[in-house]
Amino acid sequence: MSKQDLFEEIDGERDWLTDVSEQLWENPEVALQEHDSAALLRDALREEGFTVESGVAGIDTAFVARYGDDDPVVGTMGEFDALPGMSQAAKAEREPIEAGEPGHGCGHNLFGTGSLAGAIAVKRAIERGDAEGSVVYLGTPAEEVGAGKTYMIRDGAFDDVDAVVSWHPDWINAPNKGSCLAVDSFDVAFTGETAHAAKSPEAGRSALDGVQLLGTGIEYMREHVADAVRIHYVVTDGGQAANVVPEEAAMEVMVRAPTASRSRPSPSACATPPRARR
Ligand SMILES: [Zn+2]
Repeated sequence: MSKQDLFEEIDGERDWLTDVSEQLWENPEVALQEHDSAALLRDALREEGFTVESGVAGIDTAFVARYGDDDPVVGTMGEFDALPGMSQAAKAEREPIEAGEPGHGCGHNLFGTGSLAGAIAVKRAIERGDAEGSVVYLGTPAEEVGAGKTYMIRDGAFDDVDAVVSWHPDWINAPNKGSCLAVDSFDVAFTGETAHAAKSPEAGRSALDGVQLLGTGIEYMREHVADAVRIHYVVTDGGQAANVVPEEAAMEVMVRAPTASRSRPSPSACATPPRARR
């Protein structure tokens, strides 16, 4: 059987695969809450004859589906989580179905389903004796927060996989090569002293000031990082009411760079005293 025959066979499955993608789109679930989405993909894989292991790496929605016992083991990954606040009708113009609710802004409904189709194609080739080895579908949750694969790798889910072919929805249909940036993400919490902001502001110490000063410091720091470094943040807790000096405030920060070590300040660089002015 030629590769072209296999393409055509998978094209013949278009209706139900489109239905899977639409079900994921219509029921967008954010990171680590993708229970229905993971179940939908797991059920489709089981029905096709894959053996499915759920709850991989202690994550309810992480799974590995496998077909075959032989080497080599070729894998593909499926992502299926949505983004907060991206509720959107299936059209090109911005039109939330329910403003503020989650939605598939990154196309993970297609990601999960396209990988499903790919895994099925390889499985059928193995089943017919047109290919040797095994195929695994690694269901990687929480990728919008960059969390799923990390724990699955740490737990050994990729250990016996010889190669993984992956992809991501985009506006072109083409192979590319390149690497992603390493990311460190962390939360910073500040604690202050609350007070009534109008009656006794002098008694307060605003935790939000700490958050704002950190943000300002980061902006100054941008001048002194390498080109490829990305630093971004959101205020996750800025207080409850403007007339109350916030006792607590928090910020989520992400730092990205080509390698993990470059996303962290070098201790030697920090320890170097400033040069004397000439
Ligand atoms: Zn994505």
